[in-house]
Amino acid sequence: MPDKQPLKLIVAYDRNQNEYSLVAHNQAPEEAQSFLDQWTRHLRPGSYLLMLDQAKRHQTAAAQKCRACREAVARSGHFEPQPKFTRRQQ
Ligand SMILES: [Zn+2]
Repeated sequence: MPDKQPLKLIVAYDRNQNEYSLVAHNQAPEEAQSFLDQWTRHLRPGSYLLMLDQAKRHQTAAAQKCRACREAVARSGHFEPQPKFTRRQQ
């Protein structure tokens, strides 16, 4: 994967709880899109998956432990009010 390609992270958001968890990061746009296509229909009602842009590649191996992902969610403006982070195992 060339470094210049924009990278995406994937967030699972639960509208009922106003909670989110991190699913994956450092994804190429087409990888992220196929992930969404594959998993969106398996989600519970009120939950959905979102793709967010990454400013740069994240160094943490696991998205679930990635601080940069959490900062990206906080900055994104997609969520109002700001949701709680939950370290849910997918
Ligand atoms: Zn990350």
